[in-house]
Amino acid sequence: MTATPDGMPPLAAMETARLDWQRDDTGEEAPRSADFDDVYFSRHDGRAETSHVFLGGNRLPERFASWRGMRPFVVGETGFGTGLNMLCAWACFDAHAAAEARLHLVSTEKFPLCREDLARALAIWPDLARHTEALLAQWPEPVAGVHRLHLDPRVTLDLHFGDAVERLALLDGRVDAWFLDGFAPSKNPEMWQPELFEAMAARSRPGATFATFTCAGVVKRGLKAAGFAWRKVPGFGRKREMLVGEITAPPEDARRSSTPWFTPPPARPSHRVAVIGAGIAGTSVAAALAERGVAVTLFDRKGPGAGGSGNAQGALYVKLAAETNYQSRVYLAGLLHSRRWLSRLDPGQTLWSPCGVLQLALSEKEHARQARFLERQPLPSGVVEGASAEQATERAGVGTWAPALDYPQAGWVRPDALCRRLAETPGILFRQAEVIRLTAESDGWRLVARDGTTLDVDQVVIATATLANRFHQTSALPLQPVRGQVSRVRLPPDAPGLGRVVCAGGYVPPPLDGWLTFGATFLPNDADSGVRESDHLANLAELERTLPAYVAALNEAGADLTPANLEGRAGVRAASPDKSPYAGPVPDAEAWQEAYAELTKDATRIPGTPGRHHTGLWISAAHGSRGLASAPLCAELLASRICDEPLPLEQPLVDHLHPGRRLIRDLIQGKHESAA
Ligand code: SAM
Repeated sequence: MTATPDGMPPLAAMETARLDWQRDDTGEEAPRSADFDDVYFSRHDGRAETSHVFLGGNRLPERFASWRGMRPFVVGETGFGTGLNMLCAWACFDAHAAAEARLHLVSTEKFPLCREDLARALAIWPDLARHTEALLAQWPEPVAGVHRLHLDPRVTLDLHFGDAVERLALLDGRVDAWFLDGFAPSKNPEMWQPELFEAMAARSRPGATFATFTCAGVVKRGLKAAGFAWRKVPGFGRKREMLVGEITAPPEDARRSSTPWFTPPPARPSHRVAVIGAGIAGTSVAAALAERGVAVTLFDRKGPGAGGSGNAQGALYVKLAAETNYQSRVYLAGLLHSRRWLSRLDPGQTLWSPCGVLQLALSEKEHARQARFLERQPLPSGVVEGASAEQATERAGVGTWAPALDYPQAGWVRPDALCRRLAETPGILFRQAEVIRLTAESDGWRLVARDGTTLDVDQVVIATATLANRFHQTSALPLQPVRGQVSRVRLPPDAPGLGRVVCAGGYVPPPLDGWLTFGATFLPNDADSGVRESDHLANLAELERTLPAYVAALNEAGADLTPANLEGRAGVRAASPDKSPYAGPVPDAEAWQEAYAELTKDATRIPGTPGRHHTGLWISAAHGSRGLASAPLCAELLASRICDEPLPLEQPLVDHLHPGRRLIRDLIQGKHESAA
């Protein structure tokens, strides 16, 4: 896979690891890489080796025991392999850390194991069964990118699938202790390059340590050149020596020189945070913060799920572009994240169903687009695959003449119930009030509600969809209202169901609680939320266009699909001009216009000034009609930024979501007046 100039690899299925299961000298089988001709670990003493080299080499028992503060301790690793090192770090954390401490594990892997091999390899360690189970339950598909796994309430694992050098260069976050693993330099020289050590240095906290089993010259030279001090200490078992060391003064983040405006605001305390807006964007960010021990006050002028996120049933799906772009990457990452997140939040699937989504190609043009998509972005079939009309018919359980894209990980959600559930997360206090003003105080923010009450907090997240730019500080962010109405009809008891959510222009999920929901209309610049007959008619026409055989079967079963018999609900969603969400810090628009005015004349003259932000003020909005796929990941992004943790997306994608991107684009295109 060749990376693009921004360092992002093409979107494609990755090569998985090829394992040999060899019997060791005790006669028991142990995993070995067929490609690298090297072992993942020694079955005989692998645990003791991990403990000596990586945990001991980084003094983790002592450091975990004394770890305090809001932010988690961050361990970084090259070569996740079977995950043994990371699971041992987690077990060590459990044994030594204070109850309120948190651990964040970041690991890269170029050749992920398939789930069966992973299960087989880790079954060797029965005392890690609980840890292994959490890992296996969330083990991602082999797709390049960042996959965030919540292993337990205190422990997060970010798997960065891809080449270690490439992934560390894309990482937005800094590490406290490195496990420099990977097959031996003699067997895997490609990984142990100077760029690897440089990337590690650039992603290190001051004083970050490292440990590695090897003493190879190339490693010593690379570490030294990158700024790490190293020393030899006794190795494990037959290995006489190994290397440990640290970096006292890691380099600045040089990546910002071409985009100084996206320099994140400095970290500030995050004990008390207010979230304004209790739709899917607000409730998911409130829950993400509360899970990190933050005291959250969640405001909404009505209640959780009262606005655009208030439908009884909505589709969890994405529409990926035929050519890879940042927006598609974000949505794909978001879909995979939502799927893992829902599995953890609601394992019993009372709030959602991963039944899969078929995106029908009802026109030649859409068919050609889907074919191009599959050719350019061959993703694992567990993520998306082409389906013939026959396969689509079989999977949907009703006849269709159209071929489709099948997303087996997608499905449907009860967004209203989900918002209510999230708002009840321990640590969240819900307040029904409309926040009308925000004022910056010396060390935080004061919120003023319409009823005159105030609240002082450290940081604020605005998640009020179309109202998100009503505050003085956010008024420069362009947002467009998009009206959307769903229709639903009560079905007779023996009406046929659907095996998948079926989409074309709209979506049709399988019936739920005796109701069939279908829709939604999409009317930009219409902020009215009244139910209209014209929208019902449009939804009925789209249903007939998408699934004529199903409509016929419903009619035959006695369903009354006429507007008079339909119920409806209309919501107003917010969209940004480029249709990607806003998730990040709120830029100080006036300061940007002043600092970057030169760009209007010459876009190549980039000033060194970092972008000024309204420090401690954040936004998650413009999720349009895809909030179920984008909002939970954006919630993690914001919670991670607020709590000073590594981010769950590659840096170019973090920048793509930055709420100030339009301000800069307008400056570069000489449209700064219109942005003001
Ligand atoms: N830490 C592992 C564990 O606890 O099981 C053992 C690691 S195994 C010895 C080395 C791992 O590095 C393999 O999984 C291999 O696929 C991975 N690897 C090799 N080259 C890599 C590269 N350039 N980038 C990322 N991972 C790489």
